[in-house]
Amino acid sequence: MKILVTGGSGLVGHGIQNSKGSNHDIIFLSSKDCNLLSYNDTLSLFKKEKPDCIIHLAAIVGGLFKNMNYKVDMLEGNLMINYNVLKAAHKADIQRVVSCLSTCIFPDATVYPINEQMLHNGPPHFSNDAYAYAKRMLEIHSRAYQEQYGRDYVCVIPTNIYGPYDNFNLEDAHVIPALVHKCYLAKQNGEKFIVKGSGKPLRQFIHTVDLGKLILWVAESYNDKESIILSVGEKDEVSIGYVAELVARAFDYEENMEFEIISADGQYKKTADNSKLMELYGDYKFIKIEDGIREVVEWFRKNYDVCRK
Ligand code: NAP
Ligand code: GDP
Repeated sequence: MKILVTGGSGLVGHGIQNSKGSNHDIIFLSSKDCNLLSYNDTLSLFKKEKPDCIIHLAAIVGGLFKNMNYKVDMLEGNLMINYNVLKAAHKADIQRVVSCLSTCIFPDATVYPINEQMLHNGPPHFSNDAYAYAKRMLEIHSRAYQEQYGRDYVCVIPTNIYGPYDNFNLEDAHVIPALVHKCYLAKQNGEKFIVKGSGKPLRQFIHTVDLGKLILWVAESYNDKESIILSVGEKDEVSIGYVAELVARAFDYEENMEFEIISADGQYKKTADNSKLMELYGDYKFIKIEDGIREVVEWFRKNYDVCRK
């Protein structure tokens, strides 16, 4: 199978690159290969490459504070990229597209655990509504292509993701890379390691290598038309405070951690149900967060000069 991965240079793209075990011909794209904000460029590339399947990861992505401060960019960028990718894929007669949503686009007022059927049952959390509605349209758009044209356009829904090659920007990053960078600087400068919010919110984190393997499995073997949640189980949900502790421990800097409780906490939790995945895939052994965070800290130290920050 020839597979084209949009967003191949990002966090999840590297997860697929590093997950090994695939015999397919996979092309990893970055924005330098094609600006997906341009429909014509996207169509030309898809016609030239003519893959059997597109794994569509490219997006304007960021943590809680980027979602709160750049709502227009999150909405317009993602609507446009997703519109261009699906429309051009259909026009280039590419039968299969696997697109990436996120559990952070689910309704805020809901019952837990959330499952694949609950995506549109109420507004998302106000902090990331612009990003969430753009992503929800990607699901609607994919289903419309299934129904009107018989395309195999499906969506995967990962929970919070972490791993090497993340964006470690202090303001815009997701919590793990932001905290890794902050703790690194705090230790270097002999300052307090400040963790935003109360530390109480709960999250399920999936390592990019696990996610990469599971996305390839979806591309190859998943025949359902509905979306599928790709997540560790409910029992592996952890608090932000615990994650911060793991980061501090990896730097041997635990004594200096402090919560800045006036900062936003975001959604309290978004506990996702991975039972559909477990039923279809079988028993998958996920990388433990304790091991994964140690690895990311190690990676960040080694790649400090060259990583995204
Ligand atoms: P990322 O590290 O920020 O990577 C984004 C990717 O999109 C990069 O490869 C980037 O290319 C590409 N891109 C951005 N704008 C583009 C454009 N105009 N044209 C072409 N390519 C463009 O993001 P990620 O964390 O890997 O996210 C991958 C997917 O997972 C996204 O759909 C995201 O919504 C979803 N997701 C992420 C998380 C998370 O915690 N990170 C959680 C749930 C779901 P360049 O490298 O050239 O800039
Ligand atoms: P979310 O899971 O979509 O909310 O996104 P994040 O990965 O940004 O995680 C946000 C949670 O981590 C919130 O509870 C924040 O208060 C907390 N947090 C603590 N410190 C930081 C930080 O430096 N950056 C980010 N993004 N979140 C932080």
